[in-house]
Amino acid sequence: MRIGILGAGQLGQMLGFAARDLNAQCHFLDPSENPPAAECGEVMQRAFDDPAALAELAEACDVITYEFENVPIDALLHLDGKVPVYPPPAALQHSQDRLREKKLFAALDIPLPDYHAIDTRKDLDAAAQILGLPMIVKTRRLGYDGKGQFVVNDRSDVDAAWNELGGRPLIAEQWVSFDFEVSCIGVRSINGDVAIYPLCHNVHVGGILRTSKSPVDAPALSTVASGYVRRLLQQLDYVGVLTLELFVVGDELLANEFAPRVHNSGHWSIEGSKTSQFENHLRAVMNLPLGSTASCGHAGMVNLIGEIPQTVRALDVGVLHDYGKMPKPGRKLGHVTVIADSANRRDALVEIIDNCITE
Ligand code: AMP
Repeated sequence: MRIGILGAGQLGQMLGFAARDLNAQCHFLDPSENPPAAECGEVMQRAFDDPAALAELAEACDVITYEFENVPIDALLHLDGKVPVYPPPAALQHSQDRLREKKLFAALDIPLPDYHAIDTRKDLDAAAQILGLPMIVKTRRLGYDGKGQFVVNDRSDVDAAWNELGGRPLIAEQWVSFDFEVSCIGVRSINGDVAIYPLCHNVHVGGILRTSKSPVDAPALSTVASGYVRRLLQQLDYVGVLTLELFVVGDELLANEFAPRVHNSGHWSIEGSKTSQFENHLRAVMNLPLGSTASCGHAGMVNLIGEIPQTVRALDVGVLHDYGKMPKPGRKLGHVTVIADSANRRDALVEIIDNCITE
């Protein structure tokens, strides 16, 4: 089977590697030079919204999917009808706009932090009044890895927040003093079968994911989180992998955002799960039966951001994934996964890797 993938970054690369085991060929569309996925498939180096490139991709492929959330929605709509596009474009429309996303959570009775939509400076003042401080202001569109965000701690920050982000549609959220963050990754097939991965515990530094660990020893939270993911999958008539990120506050969960794609917090599943998130995404869009999402142990993943230190390369711990990207501050260049037979051992291994990075 021929699979067209919009985006050829590291997620595309890991999808491409998984595709080999399923005897599928990946064709990528991505405007960047030498993207990571070039290692495992042909890349058309053209704009996402280039109609001729999209037509070529539709012609060459049996199904289209995407690994990049900021794909122009019109590109997907252009393809839909010519060739099946999964996950459904409507899911991306929701996730690309934080206001639509929050309205979807609310409509599905998925609890979320209080928020206020902002178009004008007056709205920003009103948000501070209604939500209280601190609050976090985010662009409604095109934010990722903590970009396009401003934490307003006190009234004197409001001007700076407006100077930095004003002029675009924004949203302000109440600041959540969470205990920790989790993500719940689910997958749904074309015939409606659903499988859910064990919950992941995530730590972000400066808005960028630093570590993920799975499973999380919190059965009640896991049940609630997977119920929320099932609701989203059902409502969106979804096909593929979907990730829901949540804040844990006491015994409650508040939804932060969802991603209609394979996710960084599920990279551990390559070694740590019977079927990786990448293989299951492909299985879903290829109309194959889903694979088991059971864990193979206690998994931990550490992101390598900005550089891959020699100390990490020299470690005899875990599996290093180097995406082959040019080093740049803030850029995700690779990750290391460890699998252990106990949570304590896993945590110790993650710490060894983490210490190499902070040195
Ligand atoms: P996001 O791009 O919305 O996923 O935000 C990136 C990270 O910023 C999250 O994973 C949290 O660590 C932090 N963050 C985002 N929104 C909030 C919030 N309302 N309260 C506290 N921390 C937040």
